[in-house]
Amino acid sequence: MHLMHMDVNYRVVKNNMKADLLDEKNENMPIAAFLKMIKERSDRLMNYFLLSFFIIGIALGYFYDTYLIALGVGGACLLAYYSAKILFPESTLYQFIASANLGIFTAQLIYQMHGLFEMHFIAFIGSAILITYQNWKLQLPLAVVIIIHHSIFGYLQFSGVPHVYFSQQEFMDVQTFIIHVFLALTIFFICGLWAYQFKKHSEQHIEMSFEIGRLQIAEQQKEQLLKVNSELDKFVYSVSHDLRAPLRSLMGIVEITADQTEELPVINHLQMMKESIARMDGFILDILDYSRNARSEFKKEEIDFPELLTEVIHHVKYAGSTNDPSEIKIFVEGKNTFISDRSRITIIMNNLISNAIRYQNTALNNQFVKINVVLSKKDATICVSDNGIGIPKELQNKIFDMFYRVNGNSVGSGLGLYIVKEAVEKLKGTIKVNSKPGEGSEFLVNIPNVEII
Ligand code: ADP
Repeated sequence: MHLMHMDVNYRVVKNNMKADLLDEKNENMPIAAFLKMIKERSDRLMNYFLLSFFIIGIALGYFYDTYLIALGVGGACLLAYYSAKILFPESTLYQFIASANLGIFTAQLIYQMHGLFEMHFIAFIGSAILITYQNWKLQLPLAVVIIIHHSIFGYLQFSGVPHVYFSQQEFMDVQTFIIHVFLALTIFFICGLWAYQFKKHSEQHIEMSFEIGRLQIAEQQKEQLLKVNSELDKFVYSVSHDLRAPLRSLMGIVEITADQTEELPVINHLQMMKESIARMDGFILDILDYSRNARSEFKKEEIDFPELLTEVIHHVKYAGSTNDPSEIKIFVEGKNTFISDRSRITIIMNNLISNAIRYQNTALNNQFVKINVVLSKKDATICVSDNGIGIPKELQNKIFDMFYRVNGNSVGSGLGLYIVKEAVEKLKGTIKVNSKPGEGSEFLVNIPNVEII
């Protein structure tokens, strides 16, 4: 049972790890894919805009005969942009060149239209287009080009240099110029901020969607694991159950054969067979208990402890322990109604009592097993004590492990106390052991009263 569980769990964990590794490798994949998509889409947009500015420049050549300027400046801009893009496609250099180009096209169009006021707005169109890359730094080349252009051309025009064509105005005072620059910088700043926030928002959004995807996968894997475990439990339960029937008929045949013979060696061999069959049956019963505890729902029921304990003791004695303690005493204190899961409490008591009987000190003639139950509104405190062989201190925390037996020759499966611990956990209770070798042991179990949970 344990090994089968382990194997399934191992396989699932291994698959999970594989999935995790894959995910780890590709952890930034969605963000990288997103950035690639942004880049491609923005590059396409930039193609349209730069080509449009170039064509507009040529078209504006008609007004003041500035074809050569349009071809020369516009052509140089496109040449720089596409060369950088072809030579360094993975770098962002060409995007920064595009940003500077937008500033240069603004200057060119202002010039071509002899300083037409409205042409200055083209800088803002450029700034807005650049948001598409979601990179605030791309605002910088444009801003720098515009500021340098405005400062130099403004200064030259207002100093009286002819044919500068920066503005249609005859004069601009420094204060007005500074306000212009300040307003332009504000727009560049706002566009940069948007670009930054867009990128941050998109990344967060992608990370969130990715996390949701991971959680969904984990949830599916958990469901699968639960399904596999429950199928395995069902399988183990039915196999164990079916195994008991042939064992019982084997026991019957051995008993009949023993009755029919008087030969001592045969009787001895048959007795050994009986003990082996009983041991195997005990092992199967343990597996059934384990499976029952793992599978069954919590069933609330009023527990009548005297009745339950009498039944368990009868069952334990009937199961044929080689030891037969002279005394098994039951004390139940408290009149409170106690509600819990009867089948799990039966499993717990069954194992603790049969252990107390099994691990008696055969050298004593006053062997005893005492069962004390104290009921309260809050809980039931059960103490199963004996004056048996006891358990060494250093081994007391191991006895609840699966398949652990203090003595390798023990007839038990080593599952009993493990099942007890599991069942106590299902009841949200606790279990403790006090024991001294040669003096005896006591197992203290506390189980909450479900009524008041
Ligand atoms: P087993 O099937 O071997 O009894 P358990 O899980 O029930 O397995 O117990 C684990 C070990 O703890 C036993 O092998 C035994 O050595 C020790 N043990 C359990 N109960 C007692 C007890 N009442 N007195 C002495 N030893 C005990």
